[in-house]
Amino acid sequence: MFISIDGARCMGHGRCYAMAERLLTDDDEGFVAERGRSWEVPEGLTSEAESAAHACPESAIAVRDS
Ligand code: SF4
Repeated sequence: MFISIDGARCMGHGRCYAMAERLLTDDDEGFVAERGRSWEVPEGLTSEAESAAHACPESAIAVRDS
């Protein structure tokens, strides 16, 4: 599974890293620090990635299988 975070959509609500604290982190301003990135989700963290995507009110997080 891959996860990507649209940096332009992220408004810093903070729900994603609260739901996926082993996958995402916050920066000094409350935005998810990984915004603008796309990467492969480590094995064992796929449910956290899906939870983060569902939790984002701006639909900034996308998960896909490949
Ligand atoms: S929940 Fe969405 S808008 Fe909020 S910090 Fe995470 S990616 Fe950004």
